[in-house]
Amino acid sequence: MKSPTYSCPMCKPGIVTELIIPKYMARLKGIDFEVDNAKIDQCDSCGERYFHPKEIRRWEKILKAICYMTASSANTTINKIQLAALKN
Ligand SMILES: [Zn+2]
Repeated sequence: MKSPTYSCPMCKPGIVTELIIPKYMARLKGIDFEVDNAKIDQCDSCGERYFHPKEIRRWEKILKAICYMTASSANTTINKIQLAALKN
C-alpha cells in the first residue's frame, strides 16, 4: 500500500511516512485506550509523530463508545477492548 510521504517539519531531511499500528495505546482527555489500526505519521529521522485530525475524530468516537460501555465502571484505564465494530 502506497501512502503519501512528506519532509518532516521538525528536522527537514527526515521523511514522514504513514504507519498503521494494529494495537495503539492512544490517550485522549487523560484516558488511555486501545485503538485498532491507528494511522499515525512518523518521521524516519527524528521519530516525531503527527496525527491526522480525521484520525483523532475516529479515536474520539472509539473513546465515546468505550465510555458508554464502561459507564458503570470507575476504572478509566481500559485495556484489551475489542473494537472491531468501530472500524471504518
Ligand atoms: Zn523529523
